[in-house]
Amino acid sequence: MNRIVLTNIRLLDGITRAARDDYVVVTKGERIEWIGPRGAERFQDPTDMVYDLKGAYVLPGLWDMHVHLDFRMIPDSVGEPSLAESTLFAYRRALTFLNAGVTSLRVVGTHGGLDFSLRDGINCGEYLGPRILTAGPGLASTGGHGAIQGKGYDGPYEFRRAAREVVYHGADLVKIMVTGGIIGRHEAFDALQTMPDEVQAVVKVAHQWGRHVAAHIASAQAAVMCAELGVDTIEHGYALDKHALKVMKRHGVVYVPTLVVTDEPSYWSEVGLPHWAVAKVKQAASSHRLAVEMALEMGIAITLGSDLPTPFVDGTIGVVREMEALANLGVAPRDLIAWATRTPATIFGLADDLGTVEHGKVADLVATPENPYDSVRHFRDICFVMKRGRVVRAETGLPLVAGYLEHE
Ligand SMILES: [Zn+2]
Repeated sequence: MNRIVLTNIRLLDGITRAARDDYVVVTKGERIEWIGPRGAERFQDPTDMVYDLKGAYVLPGLWDMHVHLDFRMIPDSVGEPSLAESTLFAYRRALTFLNAGVTSLRVVGTHGGLDFSLRDGINCGEYLGPRILTAGPGLASTGGHGAIQGKGYDGPYEFRRAAREVVYHGADLVKIMVTGGIIGRHEAFDALQTMPDEVQAVVKVAHQWGRHVAAHIASAQAAVMCAELGVDTIEHGYALDKHALKVMKRHGVVYVPTLVVTDEPSYWSEVGLPHWAVAKVKQAASSHRLAVEMALEMGIAITLGSDLPTPFVDGTIGVVREMEALANLGVAPRDLIAWATRTPATIFGLADDLGTVEHGKVADLVATPENPYDSVRHFRDICFVMKRGRVVRAETGLPLVAGYLEHE
C-alpha cells in the first residue's frame, strides 16, 4: 500500500491551540501513519505520492450534522421524482459536499432507503463520496412534520415498531419529529405532534440498540419533554427559552441550531419555497436567533448542521455558512471548528477514529490557504480534501467528476 505524504503544511490538529508550521502528515491506506516536522521523516520511498501543500492549513474534515440528501424544491408542475431520480440526485449532492470539504454527513431523514444504499456503496469503496451516517426516514406521527402524504405512526406501539424497523434496516441513529416545522402548511411551531409515550418508546428502542436519538423540535415545551425523556440531540429549537435550555444542559443534550435556516429568509424565496413557508421562516427568525444567543451564553453543547435544499448558500457550503452565522454572534473560530469536527465524532462514538488529526486516526483532512482559526470564512477557499486516505481534491479540483457537481 503506497503512502501519501502531505508536506509543507501548517497543521491544525484540533488539539493544540496554534498551528504547527512546516509539518508533514503521512497516510497509509485509510489511516494517518506519521505526523511530524518536515525533515524528521525517517523514511522515504520512491512509491510515496507527495503533495506539496505550499504552506496551507490542514484540519480534520468537516461534518454537516443535519442533512436530507433528497431535499429539494420541486415546482408544482414537475410532480414527485421517482426513487431512481432521487438516488441519482442524492449522489450528486453527496459528491458536492465532499468536494467542499464536508467529509462526513449525518443524514436525518431521507426516503426510500437511498441513504442506506449510498452509505453502504461508499463505505465498501465502490463509490466515491462522503462518510454517511443516517437515520433513514424521520419517524413522524400521522399528519406530523415530515410524514409523507400524512402517513405516520400513532401510539407507543407503532413508534416502537417503527424505531425497530429503522435500526433493523441499518440506521446509525434514530430521528423523531416532535413538533411542527417550517414546511408544513397547517402546523404551528408549538404544535406538539408526538406524545411523551411515543418519544419514550423510540428513545428506549434506539438506546437499547446503541443508537442516539435526534429530535426535530421547534418549541421550548417539546424540548423540555424530550430532554427529560433522554433524547440526545435537539434540532432547530426555533423557540427555545431559558428554562428549556437549562433542562437540556442538565441532561447533556447537544443542540443542533441550524441557524442558517432562518438567518437569511431571502435565500428561501430564491430557491422557490412556497410563500406561506417563507412567512414561517420570517416568523421564526428572531426567536431562533435569541435561542441560539442564550444557548451560547449558557455554554450548551452545540454541533453544526445546515438542513437546506441546496448544498450552497450565499456562495458557500451550508455548514460553513452556519459557522459564519455563529461567528457573527461572537463564537471563536476554534470552537466552531471543534463543533464541526470533534463533537460530531464524539456523538457517534467515533472519536478514536475521527474528529482530530492524530497518529493512527482515519485520514479525513481538508486544507485552506489561509488560517481558519483567524476566520471561518477561509473555509470558502478549500484547496485540498482527503477522505479515508484518498485524495478527493487537490489544486486541480476533482478530476473527472468536477463538471458534474452542483454549483453555487
Ligand atoms: Zn431537517
